[in-house]
Amino acid sequence: MDEQINGVRLHFTDTGTYTAAHAFPNVPTFVFLHYFGGSSLSWQPLIDRLSPRYRCIALDMRGFGDSEAPATGYAVADYADDVAALIEHFHLTDFTLVGHSMGGKVAMAYAARQPAGLRELILIAPSPLSPEPISDDERQHAVEAYGQRAAAEQTLRTITARPLPAELQARVMDDNLRSSQAAWRAWLEHGSREDLSTLLPQISVPVLILSGEVDKTIKPDVIQREVAARLSSTWRVQMIMLPDAAHLLPLESPDAVADAIRHFVNPQPNRYPAGSVRALLTTDLVTPQTRRALTERLENTERLESPATSSLPVAPQLFTPAEFDTLRAICARLLPNAQDLHIDLAAQLDARLQIGKGNGWRYDVLPPDQEAHQRGLQAVDETAQALYKQSFVALDTSQQDAVLRTVQSGAPPGATWKTLPAKRYFEELLAELAECYYSDPTAQETIGYVGMADAAGWSAIGLNQLEAWEPRHNIETIPNISAASLPTRQIASDQAAPPMRHYTLDEVVDAVVIGTGAGGAPLMARLAAAGMRVVALEAGKFWKPQSEFATDERAQSALYWNDERLSAGTDATAFGNNNSGVGVGGSTLHYTAYTPRAHADDLRLHSEFGVGVDWPLSYADLKPYYDELERYLGVSGPAAYPWNDDAARPSYPLAPLPLNGAAQLMQRGCEPLGIRTSPAPNAALSARYYQPGVGWREACTNRGFCQAGCSVGAKASTDVTFIPNAIQDGAEVRAECFVTQFVRDSSGQITHVVYIKEGVEYRQACRTVFLCAGAVETPRLLLINGLANSSGQVGKNFMAHVGLQIWGQFHEDVRPYKGIPGGLISEDTHRPKGVDFAGGYLLQSIGVMPVTYASQLVRGRLLWGEPLQDHMLGYNHTAGINILGECLPYPGNYLELSNEHDARGLPKPRIHFSYGENERRLESHADLLMRAIWSNAGAREVWAFHRSAHIIGTCRMGSHSADAVVNPDGRSFDIPNLYIADNSIFPSALSVNPALTIMALSLRTADRFIEHAKQGNM
Ligand SMILES: Cc1cc2nc3c(=O)[nH]c(=O)nc-3n(C[C@H](O)[C@H](O)[C@H](O)COP(=O)(O)OP(=O)(O)OC[C@H]3O[C@@H](n4cnc5c(N)ncnc54)[C@H](O)[C@@H]3O)c2cc1C
Ligand code: SF4
Repeated sequence: MDEQINGVRLHFTDTGTYTAAHAFPNVPTFVFLHYFGGSSLSWQPLIDRLSPRYRCIALDMRGFGDSEAPATGYAVADYADDVAALIEHFHLTDFTLVGHSMGGKVAMAYAARQPAGLRELILIAPSPLSPEPISDDERQHAVEAYGQRAAAEQTLRTITARPLPAELQARVMDDNLRSSQAAWRAWLEHGSREDLSTLLPQISVPVLILSGEVDKTIKPDVIQREVAARLSSTWRVQMIMLPDAAHLLPLESPDAVADAIRHFVNPQPNRYPAGSVRALLTTDLVTPQTRRALTERLENTERLESPATSSLPVAPQLFTPAEFDTLRAICARLLPNAQDLHIDLAAQLDARLQIGKGNGWRYDVLPPDQEAHQRGLQAVDETAQALYKQSFVALDTSQQDAVLRTVQSGAPPGATWKTLPAKRYFEELLAELAECYYSDPTAQETIGYVGMADAAGWSAIGLNQLEAWEPRHNIETIPNISAASLPTRQIASDQAAPPMRHYTLDEVVDAVVIGTGAGGAPLMARLAAAGMRVVALEAGKFWKPQSEFATDERAQSALYWNDERLSAGTDATAFGNNNSGVGVGGSTLHYTAYTPRAHADDLRLHSEFGVGVDWPLSYADLKPYYDELERYLGVSGPAAYPWNDDAARPSYPLAPLPLNGAAQLMQRGCEPLGIRTSPAPNAALSARYYQPGVGWREACTNRGFCQAGCSVGAKASTDVTFIPNAIQDGAEVRAECFVTQFVRDSSGQITHVVYIKEGVEYRQACRTVFLCAGAVETPRLLLINGLANSSGQVGKNFMAHVGLQIWGQFHEDVRPYKGIPGGLISEDTHRPKGVDFAGGYLLQSIGVMPVTYASQLVRGRLLWGEPLQDHMLGYNHTAGINILGECLPYPGNYLELSNEHDARGLPKPRIHFSYGENERRLESHADLLMRAIWSNAGAREVWAFHRSAHIIGTCRMGSHSADAVVNPDGRSFDIPNLYIADNSIFPSALSVNPALTIMALSLRTADRFIEHAKQGNM
């Protein structure tokens, strides 16, 4: 290809089938600059090796190859200008410059300009920026050799260690002889003599230098001294000497050069050989409950691996044989079994659908799961018939891929697609399969995930840190750790339903608390401490974390609220593991435990910006509770929190938790941008902590599994904090009791709470009800019962934080399964200046477990097949940043009862959620900023996952009964003995995580109630 670039007609090649075929925009582009007397063709052997994965642009530098040869303009700076113009021409935003010999000098001169988008510099036998060390005689001889075949042949012999294949020799000769005289002379007489060495310290990107061991043209020691040693500003310089090679490395040793380049620019997959996880499971590095969960899953794989059983037909339970065949064929394209894996995804999906196990939500536009999949498979076949007149299974793999891409694009042919949104169905199917695949321990070992080996926790959690015993390559070789060397722990909570007081159903207790999460548990403890008779009804079970919580995402999915919610709207929010929990402890069982306080201005959104509403409370009302909670929960945090606006605030009781890889990278990326960061306040213990009435709680062991349950008891979920205290003070917690109704007397007061346990209905008599079931179940219960809604506000004002995540992969070993997932915070964006939106957001670093990451990756990017599996190979090098941004209440965002019913016969909730202009603008601002942070930190394969997090609003607190459900004390305006204390009462979303504020409100509600009670006003 030829283009007029920088005023000269330049020729270049542009190769890279991977990009075109798979629409995979995030892989870097290589830009190649050849040696003196070469051309773009000199790169062909290397391009052949790299282009299946990367886009490769190779330039004929002016005066060489097929490019124009102007009379002048051959200074190094002119060549660097050409490169700049070429980069601009292609709009490259993520590229690696590869310069050979003369091209190396030009590449360095260009890199010293610190262009945006340049990620690495690869220098192959580079001409140094200082004058090239050749004598005047040699130089004169070279000038005179221009255009002479014999001299060119001699040069070729000199610059290679051994003869090249004939075809390459011919190419080198041809390139040499077609060089323009102007360019030839200019380089020898001027370019190679220019002293630009002062530019070297301005190069700040990672640099790989390759040198031929027997190169006599530019010897390795010259390169070491003049280039490598003088690159003082870059954080990563690597020099590799290739044996048996001289100056024409890319032609002499293309395999070695390609490997070195791939190795340098790519995160290195930490892949383990088959059998590694099995070996690991035999050690004490894995807890018994984790071993149980993984062994069970492996048994399935073993059945398929064994020649005796692998050929036995699997009879589908739900799908017809034809549907099952189609599903099998689809699975083989979307998630082919890598290497020697034997994961039967089709059988797993069939079994899961048969037992009706859901994940807590589905897009409202899709029918229920079973129906969606049956119709979806039929529709895929219709598309195959429409495109190729054959069934999907009869097609060859490239045709099958074409069918799947058509479905993915959203407008495939086929009658069934008219009533089944293709894109959404494709996303669902892909996410389902990716979750199954990466839940399998044998797939996990292919991406180097060994997070299950956390029985002793992790102490080496920073970048490039591994435990002494941590497997590097082959787990089979690691020494066993004896149980005796593991830390012993005493976890107060490790007993299901500990001994407690019991109340009879007829006993009119002072309070029935519905839900035991962040809202229910604190007030339960407070009321019990005040001597009140309290019964808590909790839909989920009483867990025994130490013996039941496995380090396995699939096994732990029982902690999520898995009853199906219908998610509608243009930004339909995900529930299940993304949003709410079930069990004694509620969502705190799987929260990340970030506990920043709300700021005073968070509660005055309307006064500050004229949008949303103000809270009927001020920071002063919450402050004593924040102070108390941080002390009680044992929040770990910095000595001086940079965004503290409360001069009278006590410091955090515990030192910060250590920063993991993601946190260190975010810190590195923020520094050059002047963004302040701090270890986050987190309610996980950085040291053993004494909790009155409970005993010692153990320190966090950095096992990184907070979002799937802390088996150590270090994280302040309510099951290890408020609930044991409440029980000690006489409260009764009834687990696995699902509240369905409220019985009222003629005055409208609630007299009984009706609940179902093991299919049997019970009624508990009570004086007061505290409804703390979360921002979906609380309004759902009220709407089902037609209660407390004279304002018409029940279910309205649903909000969810803008929770955009930006992920990147890094050269460094990050090991995203180690350390608390959220280690670093910045609130510099709490109220950013000069922006076009109300409110603000905070920034947090994030780690991630493999199943969650794979699921987000396929939902966010619809990656499948080789690109998906390739990307997942970089799992151990992955880090994220996440925001939590203000979300305004809108009339169109609300919860309603659908006409679909759950297993109990209750209407399923449908939640409508779409971003408004404010959320979109805030998200765009954060998107740019987080990409800049990751760019500074050296990230690659950066991608955005658009999501919202936390369920907020739906039973707004306010000062007036006309537009609010509860008053500032949490008391219903309509029913005096009904209180609400959970995330539903927030009038606005806040620009911070909600849990600490929910707990503060809960304690305040309890105190106000106790005060009223003392006044005989209960
Ligand atoms: C993965 C994840 C990470 C998070 N990270 C953070 C974080 O770092 N910081 C932060 O501040 N917040 C975080 N959150 C949010 C935080 O956990 C929630 O906002 C908070 O727990 C909500 O408290 P709640 O009392 O409103 O509801 P929940 O804590 O969800 O409690 C509601 C309880 O009610 C029970 N229930 C519901 N319906 C019924 C019924 N009909 N009968 C009986 N019981 C019922 C449920 O089982 C549940 O136990 C996170 C949430 C998730 C899911
Ligand atoms: S708090 Fe989180 S990181 Fe620490 S031990 Fe518990 S689960 Fe692991």
